[in-house]
Amino acid sequence: MFPVDDRLHQSQHLRQPVPRPEPSSAKNLTDIGTRRIFNEDHDIFRESVRRFYQDEVIPHHKEWEKAGQVSREVWEKAGEQGMLNVLVPEENGGIGGDVYSAAVTWEEQMYSNCTGPGFALHSDIAVPYISNYGSKEQIERFIPEATAGRCICAIAMTEPGAGSDLQGVRTNAKKDGSDWILNGNKVFITNGWMADLVLVVAVTNREAKSPAHGISIFLVENGMKGFQKGRKLEKIGLKAQDTAELFFEDVRLPASALLGEPNKGFYYLMNELPQERLVIAGMAVASCEFMFEETRSYVLQRKAFGKTIAHLQTVQHKLAELKTEICVARAFVDNCLQLHTEKRLDATSASMAKYWASDLQNRVATQCLQLHGGWGYMWEYPIAKAFVDSRVQPIYGGTNEIMKELIARNIVSQK
Ligand SMILES: Cc1cc2nc3c(=O)[nH]c(=O)nc-3n(C[C@H](O)[C@H](O)[C@H](O)COP(=O)(O)OP(=O)(O)OC[C@H]3O[C@@H](n4cnc5c(N)ncnc54)[C@H](O)[C@@H]3O)c2cc1C
Repeated sequence: MFPVDDRLHQSQHLRQPVPRPEPSSAKNLTDIGTRRIFNEDHDIFRESVRRFYQDEVIPHHKEWEKAGQVSREVWEKAGEQGMLNVLVPEENGGIGGDVYSAAVTWEEQMYSNCTGPGFALHSDIAVPYISNYGSKEQIERFIPEATAGRCICAIAMTEPGAGSDLQGVRTNAKKDGSDWILNGNKVFITNGWMADLVLVVAVTNREAKSPAHGISIFLVENGMKGFQKGRKLEKIGLKAQDTAELFFEDVRLPASALLGEPNKGFYYLMNELPQERLVIAGMAVASCEFMFEETRSYVLQRKAFGKTIAHLQTVQHKLAELKTEICVARAFVDNCLQLHTEKRLDATSASMAKYWASDLQNRVATQCLQLHGGWGYMWEYPIAKAFVDSRVQPIYGGTNEIMKELIARNIVSQK
């Protein structure tokens, strides 16, 4: 029996919420119920997203890797489940969730190790342009369909001759009465093959005081005359994600296809890129967490010299280093998620997160594959897929060299 005072103390103690474990002290880096940025509602949502990947994605992914694309059905199922456009406000036809719920969807995709569905590009990169700068008509026409997974969206900035240097795009749109005539081509466009709607970056004023002042964004629909999709590009990773070339030859666009105001496209891009970089950072750290847990399980069962390789001190130290680096990255990216929730995430911090997390993802991928030995090089082992999928992360969304340019610019411009 407790003395009365002690019991009182105990019951008070019991009523206090139990702190959520930090990743460094959690049993497993992918456990539900950890990290202080989340609450129980996020946990419930995470459980349902995890189940979705288990039931609707993992069983089909091999077949999609062969096809170079996912099914339209999985998009519609994700829509039914409320997993698309989570961050887009409800009044604009989205789910109206918070940044953390959107992060749950990116993280669970990486925990499933299935990179096929281009949901994040659609929901958290392309559709926000329509939600933030679109007309009432554009919002009403496209966003509810996109939330339902029936209108797949893509954004086309990159061209064969212009990637990092976005101001060098040559795709252009000229006025013809109230219409626009679009010409040019784009490359490496995620969701490009399956897209029903593509946001196309084009030059609309060649005489502007700088190229950045003469760029606009257009909403181009699949099936418009003169809009052709090229081949699905064969990539070394992201095998089930459709990445395509797009061609525009005298595509006549009505005035209503212009997003926001003419010649404001570059300004919209600069505003939206921090979120794109945060998404990549979030996915990168989640991938690290997945690879770490996968490798931990492997070394605990793989035997060499009569014992599991987890007994080797060099292996233990490697795991200690990896876990420490992943937890450090997780703390920074969770902080960025919190800043984004408070609308305080600046472009420099987002660039730091993208650069650091995607570089780490590649270091973790290399080390974890090494710990799998020859089996790590076999496609049937999840680590092999995670390794090749990691490679693109320092390249797209602005290369990591460009991220350093942006970070450095901010350093040297400060007095
Ligand atoms: C799988 C995949 C999906 C993609 N999805 C999309 C998409 O949906 N939409 C879209 O628009 N684009 C997409 N991209 C394109 C991607 O954003 C570009 O590939 C990227 O921005 C780099 O451009 P680039 O390929 O032209 O390389 P380049 O710009 O030619 O760069 C080549 C090298 O030079 C370096 N470099 C260039 N300029 C500088 C500089 N100033 N300082 C230092 N180094 C520099 C780069 O860092 C890089 O290492 C995708 C690419 C891939 C591979």
